[in-house]
Amino acid sequence: MCGVAGFKGSDEKAALKVAAILAEEQNRGQGSAGIAIHLCGGGDEIDVITKRGTVQDLRMRYDLRDYPGKTAVGVNRYATSGSTRFDMPPLRGEIDGQWMAFGVNGDTVNIDGKPWQQYRTSLEAVYHARSDTEVLLHLLAQTEGKDPVERMCRAFPRVEGAFSVVAVLGDGRMVLLRDRWGFRPLWIGRSEHGVAVASEDAALRGYQDLREVLPGEIIVIETDLTIAAWQYCPPAERLHVCSFESVYLKKSGSRGVNRFRSACGEKLAAELIASRMAETISNHIVVPVLDSGRDAALAFAYALGLRVVAGINRSRLSHEMRAFMAENHDARVAIAELKHVCDPEVLTGQDVILVEDSLLRGDTLSSIIPVVRRYARTVRVAIASPPVTGPCYYGIATPTRNELYASCHTIEETRRHIGADSLHYLSLAGYRSCFRHLSIAGYLEELTPDQHVCDACMSGNYPPFVPPRHSLPE
Ligand code: SF4
Repeated sequence: MCGVAGFKGSDEKAALKVAAILAEEQNRGQGSAGIAIHLCGGGDEIDVITKRGTVQDLRMRYDLRDYPGKTAVGVNRYATSGSTRFDMPPLRGEIDGQWMAFGVNGDTVNIDGKPWQQYRTSLEAVYHARSDTEVLLHLLAQTEGKDPVERMCRAFPRVEGAFSVVAVLGDGRMVLLRDRWGFRPLWIGRSEHGVAVASEDAALRGYQDLREVLPGEIIVIETDLTIAAWQYCPPAERLHVCSFESVYLKKSGSRGVNRFRSACGEKLAAELIASRMAETISNHIVVPVLDSGRDAALAFAYALGLRVVAGINRSRLSHEMRAFMAENHDARVAIAELKHVCDPEVLTGQDVILVEDSLLRGDTLSSIIPVVRRYARTVRVAIASPPVTGPCYYGIATPTRNELYASCHTIEETRRHIGADSLHYLSLAGYRSCFRHLSIAGYLEELTPDQHVCDACMSGNYPPFVPPRHSLPE
């Protein structure tokens, strides 16, 4: 998963605008931040600056006023392949004498029907990086076309997987493109100063005429700021819009997210009522687990007539830290402990039900629950999504099967692992019934949502293209 951004305007502050958008979507990646700028007065020159960490780290290293340009694109990276400093996007290359740089949100699975790693070794090319982004650059170089746009239109239909692309060309144009399955979001908007792009609409605050780039669509923003858009290939008959984006990854405030999370919380409450479990929690207080669990917790509590209280608060030291993105177990536990501050005044002597958006490895809950238990009488857990039992191959670095706790353990074993008094998940059918609240690439009114939303990591219902390892035990 990554957050991509772009800006093409009439003044020379595109790098500053892109940095501001990236800061708004820091939730999507903290491995590195990078910006590619088409420099004013530099001919076709494109400069790329990158730094491990956040956009703030990038800005501490580089003064963006030293990079005047009308077009820039950027990436907040959360690595799914390749972790060297040469992998930090955007990546730049010269094809037929013209520079271009681009960043991608998503993961390539196949190129020309074979795994991208195999395609990579089949080319007689020198590589600097290990990620699929550089392989896509080589794919463009190997594809016939009078300019980079034509090459992109011919090359990307040969790619299977998830890719939302932002590119800056040596002639100053900006190009956006989204895979035909619509896995990862991509938004475009306007202001009086220019055209902006982001992975999430919530990152485009202050911009107007927002719309999603459609699956299979390419958009070119010309040097005079006119916009040309067309389908470089038809959308897939069955889209695969990622539902986990709206469970956890997207910011609250992105389109459809609040509606969807609330519907999941409400449905979970309805399932507890139907199973008569609700009767045993009628004296409980509901405590949201930050921040993506909040909307579900509010709706859950309302549906059950329970009081919702802020028994866990975010430490001011942990702005935008996401335990899910940390490199190993110890780092994830350290972030979870730093980020979540329990309030003894609210929790002491209470029967508590924690509402969390999802459970992957269980690190966050297993580090929070012992602290809540110091004060509370009982600690139950309700998860507003089904168990995640399979990895994602489409741009979310959800762990291998062995690391996904629900993949190899029963609900009872998971309950014991996290140390809760009871554990309840939203059912898959209940989860799917909430898909109608998602924002699906502008097609919401026309499509039957549950036929066009991906829930493969929970249902095992993967798209037809998966890496070969998928069939092997991990
Ligand atoms: Fe999203 Fe899961 Fe599908 Fe990956 S497998 S695209 S995380 S729903």
